[in-house]
Amino acid sequence: MTAQRTLVLLKPDAVQRGLRGEIIRRIEAKGYDIVALAQRTATAEELAAHYAEHEGKPFYPGLVEYMGAAPLVALVVEGVEVIAGFRSLAGATNPTAAAPGTIRGDLAREQDLPVIQNLVHGSDSEESAAREIGIWFPELG
Ligand code: ADP
Ligand code: MG
Repeated sequence: MTAQRTLVLLKPDAVQRGLRGEIIRRIEAKGYDIVALAQRTATAEELAAHYAEHEGKPFYPGLVEYMGAAPLVALVVEGVEVIAGFRSLAGATNPTAAAPGTIRGDLAREQDLPVIQNLVHGSDSEESAAREIGIWFPELG
């Protein structure tokens, strides 16, 4: 098994709720290494590239509005099998379905909103990770 890198976003709801430390603690406690970290407000161009696979879906306009309305934190996280491992830590997309013990299961809940606000993003494959790291950290891409 070789080390992988994944792109993690602490979404604006995580920043606004003061959960950066709690989420980063879980990543570090698991044993993964943070190799890059930056807080900023995402541009429309970054979000269009990042969420290209979802363009045209009913929740897409709400998704890019939510993600661009306030600062987020982008991280590159490294470790053996970290792509699947971080998605296990994050839990299911819908916080109601996400298991207790996961970031989304413990810390998020469904809201009456057109987009699911679920605190974190994690790349879903090696191809996605390489592409997304190139969007948020072009110097590492
Ligand atoms: P994940 O973030 O778990 O990889 P997806 O890639 O399917 O999930 O979706 C990207 C993001 O879009 C989700 O994290 C969530 O914020 C939002 N989202 C996904 N599916 C829906 C949906 N059916 N309704 C509202 N928002 C959604
Ligand atoms: Mg996804």
